[in-house]
Amino acid sequence: MEYEPVIGLETHAELLTESKLWCRCSTRFGQAPNSQTCPVCLGMPGVLPVLNLQAFELALEAALALHCTINRTTFFDRKNYYYPDLPKNYQISQNYCNLGVDGYLEIPPDGDPRRVGILNVHLEEDAGKNLHVEYPGADYSLVDLNRAGTPLLEIVTAPDMHSVEEADSFMQTLRQVLLYTRVSDCKMQEGSLRFEASISMRPAGSDGLGPRVEIKNLNSMKAVRGALEYEIRRQTAALKEGKTLEQETRLWDEVRGRSGRMRSKEQAQDYRYFPEPDLLPIEVTDQTLERLRAAVPELPLARRWRFCREHGLSDYDAGVLTDQQEVADYFEACLEAHDAPKSIANWIMNEVLRVVNERQIPIGEFEVPPQRLAELVRLTDEGKINANVARDIMAKMIETGKDAPVLVEEAGVEQISDQAALEPVIDQVIDENPGAVRDYLGGKKQAIGPLVGQVMRLTRGKADPKLANRMLRARLDEMK
Ligand code: ZN
Ligand code: MN
Repeated sequence: MEYEPVIGLETHAELLTESKLWCRCSTRFGQAPNSQTCPVCLGMPGVLPVLNLQAFELALEAALALHCTINRTTFFDRKNYYYPDLPKNYQISQNYCNLGVDGYLEIPPDGDPRRVGILNVHLEEDAGKNLHVEYPGADYSLVDLNRAGTPLLEIVTAPDMHSVEEADSFMQTLRQVLLYTRVSDCKMQEGSLRFEASISMRPAGSDGLGPRVEIKNLNSMKAVRGALEYEIRRQTAALKEGKTLEQETRLWDEVRGRSGRMRSKEQAQDYRYFPEPDLLPIEVTDQTLERLRAAVPELPLARRWRFCREHGLSDYDAGVLTDQQEVADYFEACLEAHDAPKSIANWIMNEVLRVVNERQIPIGEFEVPPQRLAELVRLTDEGKINANVARDIMAKMIETGKDAPVLVEEAGVEQISDQAALEPVIDQVIDENPGAVRDYLGGKKQAIGPLVGQVMRLTRGKADPKLANRMLRARLDEMK
């Protein structure tokens, strides 16, 4: 019997707001412990929460980007549990009426595009952080409540994914969508984007659902992939031995590369949800909804397909260029100045991205703005300079801030594409390199390489290498 996995993911994304969800404390990361707290986020008796409107609108925008139906009247609930990093002993979340339901996210396929169902999207507050003191004999932990009350978006998928690759593709695509909509900065190393997975196995091709295992403590996409692979192996082996699996929650151990039981179904928490009495229900007006709908940008996958369709790019190239919104914007701004998608795409992927990745800067900080890069590419497309020279010119553009045509003129590197101008050089190279000429005439076709190289050297890199190649072959073939 063959088995297939049934995978669902729960994502928590910290919203990109300046202040917390119920108070005005800053959400800035990496500040001194407990320096960004007040009576509200410390959960003091008698305080009242006031909703951060920007957080609510960001959550709504994300729900719209995920094609959810919006509950026009929504409210918050208390999720009760006791933990040292949760000073109120309850989390304000949504349980009975999520702000968005029944959406989907389209993920890029190996074959066909796939939709992963989104069961719900809701807004809640983050907890603080326990810091476990790590020295021998330490018998206490420390609590930092700077994060307590940070707005969190929770996104719950349907159990719609059937391989680790699909789950991975979902995570990557969701991250892109949250970045494109500027809902979250998605910095996983700062905990802005976190995942939990649930997985069960079933006989391949059937449509039942086995007892699901939830996996917590997944701090990176790599951890999610590792934990899912491990669970697929573990559950499949158990089923093949005739064992029955049970519903449980497991913790992933990244270092050991395995998961261990945290609690069984019997020990499952009862959160005793009830509507939050300190907050009024929220009604979303038509105007708000329309304004937010209009604010949702073209999403990464749609943009990728449009780049293939409108600009004739390969799916791979379109995927690279739309991975970051700023890069896709840069590309299209270049096209406005020089409508040559293929060569602009190659230049951005091979040269521009190489430079910005090396320097670890966003493309917005790259010294050559799109219009001026387009000018440079135009010079190469028109045969005025060759690709090697163009690379040097780009380096000089970064250094000096001058325009490509000016630098080409200054350096006197305009390409020699004039046949007549190259004739004497071709003659000279053939005279001076009898060895290579003999090799070529003797059938060693690759001997043309060094000869072209000599033409480039004699013209100080200015010759059009393709033309030089063609002329050399013609001349040598006459000599046969
Ligand atoms: Zn506060
Ligand atoms: Mn949650």
